[in-house]
Amino acid sequence: MPEQQVMRLRFAPSPTGALHIGGIRTALYNYLLARQSGGTFILRIEDTDQGRYVPGAEAYIVESLQWLGLVPDEGPGFGGNFGPYRQSERKPMYRQYADQLIAAGHGYYAFDTPEALDAARQADPNFKYAAASRLQMRNSLTLPPDQVEALLSSGEPYTIRLKVPAGEKIVIQDLIRGEVVFDSDELDDKVMLKSDGMPTYHLANIVDDHLMQITHVIRGEEWLSSTAHHVLLYRFLGWENTMPSFAHLPLILKPSGKGKLSKRDGKQLGIPVFPLSWLGESEEDSFAGFREFGFEPKAVLNFLALLGWNPGTEQEVFSIEELTKAFSLEKIGKSGARFDFDKAKWFNQQYIQSMPVDALAARVRPLIAEKGHQPADAYLQGFCNLMKDRVTLYPDFWEKGYYCFEPVQSYDLSAVQKKWQPARKTLFIQLADRLLGAPAFHAASLDAEVHAFMSDYQLKPGDVLPILRLALAGTMQGPAVFELMELLGPEVVKNRLYNAFEVFDAAIVQA
Ligand code: GLU
Repeated sequence: MPEQQVMRLRFAPSPTGALHIGGIRTALYNYLLARQSGGTFILRIEDTDQGRYVPGAEAYIVESLQWLGLVPDEGPGFGGNFGPYRQSERKPMYRQYADQLIAAGHGYYAFDTPEALDAARQADPNFKYAAASRLQMRNSLTLPPDQVEALLSSGEPYTIRLKVPAGEKIVIQDLIRGEVVFDSDELDDKVMLKSDGMPTYHLANIVDDHLMQITHVIRGEEWLSSTAHHVLLYRFLGWENTMPSFAHLPLILKPSGKGKLSKRDGKQLGIPVFPLSWLGESEEDSFAGFREFGFEPKAVLNFLALLGWNPGTEQEVFSIEELTKAFSLEKIGKSGARFDFDKAKWFNQQYIQSMPVDALAARVRPLIAEKGHQPADAYLQGFCNLMKDRVTLYPDFWEKGYYCFEPVQSYDLSAVQKKWQPARKTLFIQLADRLLGAPAFHAASLDAEVHAFMSDYQLKPGDVLPILRLALAGTMQGPAVFELMELLGPEVVKNRLYNAFEVFDAAIVQA
């Protein structure tokens, strides 16, 4: 195998709101390649668009990455020699590159007012500030040089635009899509520096990727069309030799497979499409997260890793170490990957089942504490062992097993009516007493005691076990009944059985 290049990769989100789960997948793929190559995973906050800046969004991004264990090697608050890592703090660095574009004839000053641009768009809905139209506009290509000077020194607002050459083919070698060709006539003269002196995404992104010595740009498909401009920028700034490689990840599709997954799908389908819950200004702008749904972060990573990447084997469950070894850009598909929430839940189930019980108990404890219970460690671990094959998400532990901590709240009365025979009540009371007298209050001896009882009275398992289950848990579902008894202990079992038989009698009378 050829030796792998040490990669410098960046995840470069804009803090414009909660970070969509697709962003997390991008972060994950960057992270995996950095770890695999012994390279560096960088977080860069692209906050040049002050108009779209949302307070709290950066903290949300960092918290999401931390929750998932995708901790940056460099980034705001993480250290590194290429900072600052927030573009707003790099503002003074960009200007010289915009000037460099102008000096080399690859950029120009544009003095068009917002009204003039609106008017141009009104006159032609397909208006594009580009090679074919730029000579009709008010810029340093059309105004005499002394007037340009005068405007600049008078403080007239202006932007600096990229002068996209006409009639060129721009070729990108995308590591996922192969060769992608753009026709420069389709491209507009994008603004590089805004009238407030801030760079646009395009300029800041290229300058920073260069200065931060980024080797590979791995990002979502929606950025593919910007890459043509980016390639021109590398060329015009004289950085073509160190231009990073590009890889554009496939879209994440709705669960139906039709169209791109959006925030609204999350709301409509009642599923999370964000890593953590986000409390926006309104209900509309607030979203549920994978964490709050009760996902294990490792399961989320595993699920996301396979959204677009195919290991080429049957293996589905991967630890982060296994992912780091197996991951490769070559095995990422071009076509969209369907967001299958059931699959996400399946992964969670696999993780819960395979987690060491002490780690599992540590996850479950806060959920039980929230309900006012502080069980001893041994009890909680016993509970987790009993429930772990029956749950999908963390809150299920309480929902499906609350009766291990407090009395049964409701009994499945239709099952009671089918199974309970008041005439057998004295027998069952006798059974309860026999259980308490079993040699040890362990599943195996309780099982033996119940079987002895059944043969003494010619009863079948179907006559007895459902009654015990209903009495102890209120439901026919749930963990193995003898193990449940062992966990609950003799006192609780006795009280619950006595109490339930009364309730069962009443249910029959009412029916
Ligand atoms: N700031 C862009 C975003 O929000 C980054 C795109 C890129 O990675 O170049 O996704």
